[in-house]
Amino acid sequence: MVVTTKPEQKAKIGPTKLLINNQWVESASGKRFETINPATGEVICDVAEADAADVDKAVEAARKAFNSRDWREMPACKRGELLYKLADLIEANKEELARLETLDNGKPFKDSFNVDLPHVIDCYRYYAGWADKIQGKTIPISGPYFCYTRHEPVGVVGQIIPWNFPLLMQAWKLAPALTTGNTVVLKTAEQTPLSALRVGELILEAGFPPGVVNILSGYGPTAGAAIANHMDIDKVAFTGSTEVGHLIMEAAGKSNLKRVSLELGGKSPNIVFADADFDEAIEGSHFGLFFNQGQCCTAGSRLFVEEKCYDDFLAKSVERAKRRIVGDPFDAKTQQGPQVDKEQFEKVMGYIESGRSEGAQLLCGGNRVGDRGYFIEPTVFAGVRDDMKIAQEEIFGPVMSVIKFKSIEEAIERANQTIYGLAAAVWTKDIGKAHAIANSVRAGTVWVNCYDNFDAAAPFGGFKQSGIGREKGEYGLQQYTEVKTVTIKL
Ligand code: NAP
Ligand code: MG
Repeated sequence: MVVTTKPEQKAKIGPTKLLINNQWVESASGKRFETINPATGEVICDVAEADAADVDKAVEAARKAFNSRDWREMPACKRGELLYKLADLIEANKEELARLETLDNGKPFKDSFNVDLPHVIDCYRYYAGWADKIQGKTIPISGPYFCYTRHEPVGVVGQIIPWNFPLLMQAWKLAPALTTGNTVVLKTAEQTPLSALRVGELILEAGFPPGVVNILSGYGPTAGAAIANHMDIDKVAFTGSTEVGHLIMEAAGKSNLKRVSLELGGKSPNIVFADADFDEAIEGSHFGLFFNQGQCCTAGSRLFVEEKCYDDFLAKSVERAKRRIVGDPFDAKTQQGPQVDKEQFEKVMGYIESGRSEGAQLLCGGNRVGDRGYFIEPTVFAGVRDDMKIAQEEIFGPVMSVIKFKSIEEAIERANQTIYGLAAAVWTKDIGKAHAIANSVRAGTVWVNCYDNFDAAAPFGGFKQSGIGREKGEYGLQQYTEVKTVTIKL
């Protein structure tokens, strides 16, 4: 099937069934649900809808695979080869995957192709390299004993991902889990099932044994909850909202104490000092907030600007926001596409309304763009107080809140006044200020004179209610291994 937004802009739809035990199957209930193109609001196609019964089937396949000699006794370097092969296949199908991502999610094709896909490929290659380097230690304990540790896979891993970076979140989850020898049941977000299923096809082509990777489209309260509550899943890895993160932990606690890692929401402070390179700080802050339609967990949504440069910075930020090109995500000029769905669109419009009614000054934007799809004007509020809803809650949309500060002590104190601790940034030429912020802000990532700089090798995750554990890099391996201590009497 071929869907066109414009005649020359084709996106090919791949599989629409569930991937269980290397077979494409309909759901046990036979139910299917629609996924929409957020640029038009029209249905793209429907996909099989997994429920608890399908989760059971997928877990059974994953357990069998975990216990199978094909997977357990596969040489570690061979696991690496499978991941390298998958990365090569994704690269070979990069444009097709980027089109599908844009069609289902609404992000500009330029970004899918130049940002998301390269990061996806890097992630699989980075973790492919780790496969034969997962090693324990020898430990000099007292007495006539030889003691060593083994880093073993955790087992069957359930993974639940969001819609804002569908392919990248799939890569961040699958790559470390597979390189360490786990087997996986992955549930995609209801808004964006298509690209992950196409990768499922490439996983088959790469030659992973049956049951090692199972991919389910479905809803959170049904399929997602079935994963979190499952008695035969050893670990759940979740990326999504803090609200659902609480439910995941609760379910793990009430079921089998499965291991839990969480990558949750944020309300990241982005702190600009008057001594910063002004143009870079303007552009970096614009990018740090508006990138991906503002639908980034790291969005620099509390922009603290030093009083000395506040007026000038605000004027330039507004001017920059007004120049942002919103439109058809397949148009090469487009910088901002639609929000992912009607629900998110309405939620963001609700936050804009609350900013207005709580007395923040709306300097630009604030309206819907066009009458089709879910486009919102790049919006900037000034005069935002720390206690306003738009300064406390995650908006997940193209809404910038600019906040004035006087001293570095004040900036640090206010930066830390939320329940979140995912990321932060500071713009300054003063190395002392940069270190003071980097050391004092309670966040899992701090960027200095840059924003949203991601690398497969650099760990990522949250302090406080932004999450538990780290993904990516060597630290990411810890989430997917159990340490076994072996002691031998000599
Ligand atoms: P969400 O509602 O929490 O959904 C995330 C995933 O959880 C989806 O697959 C969803 O299924 C599923 N889910 C929903 N309810 C569930 C339940 N009761 N049990 C199990 N699974 C359930 O989040 P969202 O609003 O779609 O995504 C945006 C959020 O994700 C933001 O808060 C953002 O900050 C966060 N995020 C964090 C990171 C990070 O790395 N820290 C990265 C990206 C996004 P459905 O398909 O039915 O929705
Ligand atoms: Mg959702």
